[in-house]
Amino acid sequence: MNYQLIPKELRPIAEKVEARQRISEADALTLYRANDLNALGMIANVVRQRKNGNYATYIHNRYINYSNICVLSCQFCAFAAKKRDAHAFEYAIDEIIRVVSDALRLGVTEVHMVGGLHPTLKKDWYLDLVQRLRALDPQLHIKAFTAIEVRHLAQRIFRIPIRDTLEALRAAGLGSITGGGAEIFDPVVRDKICRGKETAAEWLDVHRTWHQMGGRSTCTMLYGHIETLAQRVDHLRQLRQLQDETGGFTGFVPFAFEPQTTILAHIKRASAFEQLRNLAVSRIYLDNIDHLTAYWVSLGLPLAQVSLSYGVDDLHGTILEEKIFHMAGATTPQQQTVAALEHAIREAGREPVQRDSHYRYLNGTSRAVRPNERELVCA
Ligand code: SF4
Repeated sequence: MNYQLIPKELRPIAEKVEARQRISEADALTLYRANDLNALGMIANVVRQRKNGNYATYIHNRYINYSNICVLSCQFCAFAAKKRDAHAFEYAIDEIIRVVSDALRLGVTEVHMVGGLHPTLKKDWYLDLVQRLRALDPQLHIKAFTAIEVRHLAQRIFRIPIRDTLEALRAAGLGSITGGGAEIFDPVVRDKICRGKETAAEWLDVHRTWHQMGGRSTCTMLYGHIETLAQRVDHLRQLRQLQDETGGFTGFVPFAFEPQTTILAHIKRASAFEQLRNLAVSRIYLDNIDHLTAYWVSLGLPLAQVSLSYGVDDLHGTILEEKIFHMAGATTPQQQTVAALEHAIREAGREPVQRDSHYRYLNGTSRAVRPNERELVCA
């Protein structure tokens, strides 16, 4: 690293990163307050390069939201509806199977499925859905349900403990759970943006349980609303702590809040500068999570491409149809082609590699296997 290009106040942090030392929460706050974006990118790239070399990945996946009917009304959410609302929807299992069958013909390796906290769908409906998806193709990875959906299923629908719920879903064919629902862990912020939602401890506990069962998952942060920088750092601290304990997070995916059509529409959307800064700080602080994903649905592909120079090593996926951010007002496209993702990566000077749901390289690309990936092979 060229220390001449790093401002004096960031040099001690840069030195720690080069020496593979963990940075503190105070360091993370200093980075969040820094305005020299290029310096942040240089430091973040040390971590990215160390973990992922010159490769940048994407996944060929299909998003599906089985229903937006939800018992909660999170203030930041424009997706959810009550049954009586005109924009409420609920797909029949046959319809979901048809859509995923079409996607399989296009070569997807993963279906990514989340919904609202539906009050009346039954246990058998969920298990039947997952079993029928599994029966379509044993190679298809079913990534489904946020930690909050898992708690909802356990407590109100299946009426069994969380571990048993996860076991039942896994026996039906679930491959991994999604990272959504984390928002910002701070309880005061949660009360203002998503009253009634599970607490940080409850979200973390679902992931801890899944990891203890040998499963893997991703983790997220919804930022750029009413949270302070210290609250963002505290959120990252709690993720890093659980990762120290379980090693079960494969990647971190931060999302900038889309305010347009929510009841928090008065909030200004996070700028491009802020999104890059947030990615760079996350990359530097989360030294125990291997991958950092730029969610192009939120950033837009041009900014996601730029983020490859700010610590990011993954451009997420083809998606094929995104509803949650678009119902909140996102103006990005709803899907990307493999060619577009590969072109964006190549143009940024990286080598594109298709990955699977655990960020393992497909297409025969070889790389030294890290210990946690060896475990994954058997997970
Ligand atoms: S964020 Fe999730 S839990 Fe909250 S209202 Fe929307 S769908 Fe329901």
